[in-house]
Amino acid sequence: MKIQAAEVFVLDMPIIRPHQLAMHTITEQAIVVACVRDTDGAEGWAEVATIGGASYGESTPEAIKVNIDRYISPLIIGKEPIAFGKIMDDVARQVRGNHFAKAVIESAIVDLAARQRGIPAYELFGGKIHDSLPVAWTLASGDTGKDIEEAHEMLEKRRHNIFKLKIGKGDAQKNVEHVLAIKQAVGDSARLTVDVNQAWDEDTANRCIPALEEGGVSMIEQPLPAWDHEGMARLTSRYRVPILADEAATSVQEVFKIAKHRAGNSIALKVCKAGGLTDTKKAAAIAEAAGLGLYGGTMIESSLGTAVCAQIYATIPALQFGTELFGPLLFKDTLTTNDIKYENFEIVIPDGPGFGMEVDRDKVKKYARSGN
Ligand SMILES: [Mg+2]
Repeated sequence: MKIQAAEVFVLDMPIIRPHQLAMHTITEQAIVVACVRDTDGAEGWAEVATIGGASYGESTPEAIKVNIDRYISPLIIGKEPIAFGKIMDDVARQVRGNHFAKAVIESAIVDLAARQRGIPAYELFGGKIHDSLPVAWTLASGDTGKDIEEAHEMLEKRRHNIFKLKIGKGDAQKNVEHVLAIKQAVGDSARLTVDVNQAWDEDTANRCIPALEEGGVSMIEQPLPAWDHEGMARLTSRYRVPILADEAATSVQEVFKIAKHRAGNSIALKVCKAGGLTDTKKAAAIAEAAGLGLYGGTMIESSLGTAVCAQIYATIPALQFGTELFGPLLFKDTLTTNDIKYENFEIVIPDGPGFGMEVDRDKVKKYARSGN
């Protein structure tokens, strides 16, 4: 059954508490949801999220919708969903960049192709290797006492034993003290990582990393600006603690450059950054061949987008840093009638059909911006 129509919605979804990053504090999360429908009326759904308008990356939710509606949708209508490789190859020849837009469209087509066959989407990518994956929680309240309380609560519930701290905003030294206080409070019961979101220069990194390393922090994420490959390479060779590239690892080609120049010794995968599921697998293969560690990243997707990421990460042999697919736990509401399951510090990989999530159209309508 061929693709007959594609619809794209921009939604603003409420979250349970403000989520503070270096460049933006999220109080409401903007997501983009795509639906493709075949001639029988069967639907495939997918989601990408963005953080802070244009402050995290170049793709804004508004641009994703316009570029799909105007330039990508006409290229997919009339095509067989199972030929998603050829469809996306054709799209790539006519639409440059726009990785988030390509990611949500490819994922929606894959969801439809898998549903047409009654199989989970991961079966179209070699099948799943993992039934569940470790999942980190981000402590981002901005308050040391609250963060420690939250960490203890997560450990008690056996929900998370890996915590990430966003430390790119404000005084670097104070942020280091904040991290060390939390690490001391949780001790060996949890792993702690930090994400600087590009906010330091090399001098600041050299002042802060030794104390973080000494204090038992297990990974430093994107300490320097995305463009500073040379600085990242120097930090990688200077310190024992793993240096992870996130904002710098924006495509298959960029992951290759990072691997070649050792501008980081680990990579955060994200389906939206790579431009889709197929290219996420390619990025993972390059990292694997180069001996880089892998992390299953998030842009803070709700349950639908999290299922997309979880299913493709489940087909990757080794994710040395686990995942950070906690998105659904931060949202106040869900677009799907079923939930993502978390148990024993791990996210359970949803099973199909498709990505295994059933979309509630009324909820899409409720949170969609007017004009959608
Ligand atoms: Mg990051």
